[in-house]
Amino acid sequence: MLDDSPGSEDMRGIVAAGAGRAVVIGAGLGGLASAMRLGARGYDVTLIDRLDVPGGRGSAMHRDGHRFDLGPTIITVPQVLRKLWADCGRDFDKDVTLAPLDPYYEIRWPDGSRFQVSGDHARMRAEVARLSPGDVSGYEAFLRDSEKRYSFGFENLGRRPMNALWDIVKVLPTFGRLRADRSVYAHAASRFRDERLRMAFSFHPLFIGGDPFRVTSMYILVSHLEAAFGVHYAQGGVAAIAEAMANVIRSQGGTVRMQTEAAEIVTAGGRARGVRLSDGAVLPAEIVVSNADPGQTYMKLLKGRKKRRWTDTRMKYLRWSMGLFVWYFGTSGTRGMWPDVGHHTVLNGPRYRGLVDDIFINGHLADDMSLYVHRPSVTDPGVAPEGGDTFYALSPVPHLGFDNPVDWAAEAEPYRQKVQKVLEDQLLPGLGKHLTASEVFTPETFRTRYLSPWGTGFSVEPRIFQSAWFRPHNVSEELPGLYIAGAGTHPGAGVPGVLCTAEVLDQLVPDPSAQAEPMRMAAE
Ligand SMILES: Cc1cc2nc3c(=O)[nH]c(=O)nc-3n(C[C@H](O)[C@H](O)[C@H](O)COP(=O)(O)OP(=O)(O)OC[C@H]3O[C@@H](n4cnc5c(N)ncnc54)[C@H](O)[C@@H]3O)c2cc1C
Repeated sequence: MLDDSPGSEDMRGIVAAGAGRAVVIGAGLGGLASAMRLGARGYDVTLIDRLDVPGGRGSAMHRDGHRFDLGPTIITVPQVLRKLWADCGRDFDKDVTLAPLDPYYEIRWPDGSRFQVSGDHARMRAEVARLSPGDVSGYEAFLRDSEKRYSFGFENLGRRPMNALWDIVKVLPTFGRLRADRSVYAHAASRFRDERLRMAFSFHPLFIGGDPFRVTSMYILVSHLEAAFGVHYAQGGVAAIAEAMANVIRSQGGTVRMQTEAAEIVTAGGRARGVRLSDGAVLPAEIVVSNADPGQTYMKLLKGRKKRRWTDTRMKYLRWSMGLFVWYFGTSGTRGMWPDVGHHTVLNGPRYRGLVDDIFINGHLADDMSLYVHRPSVTDPGVAPEGGDTFYALSPVPHLGFDNPVDWAAEAEPYRQKVQKVLEDQLLPGLGKHLTASEVFTPETFRTRYLSPWGTGFSVEPRIFQSAWFRPHNVSEELPGLYIAGAGTHPGAGVPGVLCTAEVLDQLVPDPSAQAEPMRMAAE
């Protein structure tokens, strides 16, 4: 125990040792971006993560010559990455190559109909008209709605602090005018008559852990950002972005320590003073940033501390994003097979609302499924051995916080076989004969690998009363000197979202009180 009375030797010791230092817990993209920004501000940064490679959900694994990108595959709003690099005095395009995709992705339905999404406005109109001629004017109106919500929700709200009640009160009239109370699906339904188009323009919240029938219609902003800024593939996968971020941190003089787990945030004199590692060592710091899920941060890393807002009970009763079942698989001898299966495919099952309700509301693992299928080898053949392909198929499933959660130890293999059958019947005939590498992540994996409470894919669900001020704040409500970055804070999940959490954090963190060591200049 530290003697944290003012002026005690312990207090003077830890304050002096932490001066000018920042410790960031978690090398997810939000933690990496925060560490870069703190390094640029002159902090002596130590970034720790329990995994062996940086990137968190955005890292990759290698099996039998395949590179599997574990999580994010779609890069949108690349200017957020370019700004991050520029704010650190660097040029993103020198470190990472982004390739624009055309088309962006294809959506398929069980009746055999398809819808290709691209950045070409004329082609998009033609696609809408092909499915439903009467919906073209609704599509144009939807795009205008989307742009307004992008300007307000992303460029304005999403890039500035929302930790004072007044921040949210000020914008309530705009929320009202933009009908933020309405769900994404309800908004799409008001513009499109065709049920398939309603799905095609409302499913995007699933990529940030939200229920399209219940999250705020502000998230229709995705249609505008796709149309305006494109959908990109990072050469080397998102893991290459994470590696490049870690390199910037090292070049600033910061330290990136992998296989290092935080056990506790050290407090003294009523504020965060550092991090105790699982081996008992303490990293003293002037500020601590937690990129771990806020559920873990508040329930475990600040375990003994009395909470004002984020008590264990409150955490338990938040609405959490869904879990994910992800099957990573490789194939051999398939290059050139399935020529109409591109880089990104959304394969709908027979039900939309019913399935979403089963996942988010009933906590029930349904027999039917809708899949997102990733096939990066069509864009980047190097991800697979010669002649083969690399895939993942993702199925949203309930998180582990429901009563009677799914027993994944028993269910994982039967469920994987169901996924394989759906793929063989509807997308990749003959798949079974070509399978090579195979690995499955279930919500249990998310719980044990990323220490996400309830094994969620995307932390706190972005419902309207869990967004902006209502979300765990970027500057902790519980402990001075503690900051939160990543999917569970404002503005939220997704690659652009978590990068923006670091932009917001940068506006809230004070300058370092002292330089712990002589400042090391960023080396090009
Ligand atoms: C399968 C999948 C597909 C996705 N697809 C897309 C997409 O196409 N486009 C998009 O924009 N977004 C996508 N997302 C969302 C996006 O990937 C995430 O929202 C984002 O990467 C989360 O970043 P984060 O900063 O919150 O950190 P995380 O990636 O959650 O990383 C947190 C890190 O903290 C570490 N950690 C936790 N506790 C401790 C501890 N006690 N000590 C040390 N380290 C600790 C963990 O090991 C982890 O590395 C996808 C997500 C998934 C899972």
